[in-house]
Amino acid sequence: MQSDNQAALLRAANQYMLRNYRPFPLVIKKGHGATLIDVEGNEYIDLVAGIAVASLGHGNQELSEVISAQSKEILHSSNIMLNQPEIELARMLCELSGLQRVFFCNSGAEANEAMIKLARRVYSVEDPERYEIICMSKAFHGRTLGTISATGQEKYRNGFGPLLPGFKVIPFGDVNALKQAVNKKTAAVLLEPILGEGGVIVPPDGYLKEVRSICDSTGALMLLDEVQTGVGRSGLLFAYQHEDVIPDAIALAKGLGGGLPIGAMLVREPFANVLNFPTHGSTFGGNAVACAAAGFVLKTVGTPVFLEHVRALGSKLSFSLNALARKYPHIIREVRGRGLFYGLQFISEPGDFKERALAKGLIVNFCGDCVMRIAPPLVISEHELEKALSIMDELMQ
Ligand code: PLP
Repeated sequence: MQSDNQAALLRAANQYMLRNYRPFPLVIKKGHGATLIDVEGNEYIDLVAGIAVASLGHGNQELSEVISAQSKEILHSSNIMLNQPEIELARMLCELSGLQRVFFCNSGAEANEAMIKLARRVYSVEDPERYEIICMSKAFHGRTLGTISATGQEKYRNGFGPLLPGFKVIPFGDVNALKQAVNKKTAAVLLEPILGEGGVIVPPDGYLKEVRSICDSTGALMLLDEVQTGVGRSGLLFAYQHEDVIPDAIALAKGLGGGLPIGAMLVREPFANVLNFPTHGSTFGGNAVACAAAGFVLKTVGTPVFLEHVRALGSKLSFSLNALARKYPHIIREVRGRGLFYGLQFISEPGDFKERALAKGLIVNFCGDCVMRIAPPLVISEHELEKALSIMDELMQ
């Protein structure tokens, strides 16, 4: 039974909020670790983490102290004045990524927009016909007009035309398709190192290296959308590090702020001066509180011990998910993923699986083609993970 409080809140949401989402019928009040608690006091194990955002978990006291301390100093300086947390965060990002300069913004879409503008501008003087960006069929880069133009997914594009010209969509993970698509108009290749919303699809080993080499031989920029995969999610700080390549630019957001909104585009040296003053900007980019939070997240997640823990827990998760797939071959088609980012592809539509999971105290979410996405807080305990897996087992029986 819903309490009056929760029911009243849900009624108000239904009345006043745009119906562009379909949230669970509950209102979250607080959390700790990978556990969420609604306004009625019901507890849930969270395998979604605000869609790969709450990297350090909910109710993290150290993170909240960093946020609180910074909020007492200065909230916002705008881009006409620098603040210390943004400078420190930029330095850390460059040192950890191998890229040389950072642009701060507020979301994943905005970070990808910056990469799209970088690609558009890079050859704009010397070769103005070279403006095309090759992107991937099941990609997701955000909801702005630019970023929906850069996906092959009709459900995000439908009804918003005319979209931006200059994007060519090819299948993800297919080196030959990329070789055939690149021509003298190609300014950049834009891709996620692991497709997220498209259904947690890991490309074949060596794919990113091949993309890098095609970009090197043609002068096209390699742009990586690490909005979902970045900041430890895949078991390394950045997913491109699994293949030992350095992209020309990356987009970060989601897990970077641990729950506060922040986006960032990192650029490699040869292209680091393409978006000089006054070509690009964002009022809230470099917000002192968001940058202080992200600085704390990076200091925590970016240590070898933390990342080793993500990989170790990820191996256990992979082992258990594969065991589930063997036990229920009539329900599960495939298990794929890396680190603490997994997809469990169902054979057919999952029906009310999500709602039945919720009723048992488990928050899960589906993406792509019937794929349950598992992207818990990176600090999820073994006990919470085991409990979540045993609920999944019960639901599949
Ligand atoms: N890029 C990827 C890979 C994403 O998964 C998302 C969001 O799910 C975005 C971009 C868009 O990020 P935002 O919603 O912060 O604009």
